[in-house]
Amino acid sequence: MTASARLLIVGPQGSGKGTQGVRVSDAFGVPVVSTGDIFRANIKGGTELGAQVSEITARGDLVPDELTSEIVRDRLSEDDAANGFILDGYPRNAVQVGHLDEFLGARGVALDAVILLDVPREESIGRLQLRAHEQGRADDTVEGIAHRLDIYEKETAPILDVYGERGIVDRIDGVGSLDEITERIFAALAARGLAVAA
Ligand code: ADP
Repeated sequence: MTASARLLIVGPQGSGKGTQGVRVSDAFGVPVVSTGDIFRANIKGGTELGAQVSEITARGDLVPDELTSEIVRDRLSEDDAANGFILDGYPRNAVQVGHLDEFLGARGVALDAVILLDVPREESIGRLQLRAHEQGRADDTVEGIAHRLDIYEKETAPILDVYGERGIVDRIDGVGSLDEITERIFAALAARGLAVAA
């Protein structure tokens, strides 16, 4: 049986969201929906969407909310997301929270938990500089990294207050080994009755 879990993983750039998101996805049997990955795949594939977003993402600015939310709505409407999903990189500001609330509310469901990976800014910057070497992402320049972290602090961190009021935020210490962090996440989810499928 697949466990049902509607999750959001949030954290600054370099917090390990992508890696941990995949681990949670595997354990719960729900797909990862990563807006960054969707945009990058479209840029690589030379699609119309890719052309629309390539300059924006290279600058580290946010893609317009309407466009981003439409893409997420389409993805969450696919069959494999019917029982759950883990969102990575969306919502990223208050407007997108509203869009997601509307979408889920219309289906009579809601997020079960928001996993916040807590990592200090200096640690994020160090990890991203390493990733820049390894992956050569267009937005992993010194300026790009600082700009994205600024947007995170200004626009994304405040959404945690909204979800915090709903009592669904699990703050996880994001410093440690990958396995330690995964264990912390599973323990927090288990405490909410969200158990990993056997
Ligand atoms: P990072 O978290 O390292 O910035 P992501 O892979 O999550 O990387 O996102 C890469 C880029 O894709 C962002 O800088 C932004 O341009 C765009 N993007 C991703 N998610 C969103 C979103 N929810 N809203 C607007 N733009 C987004």
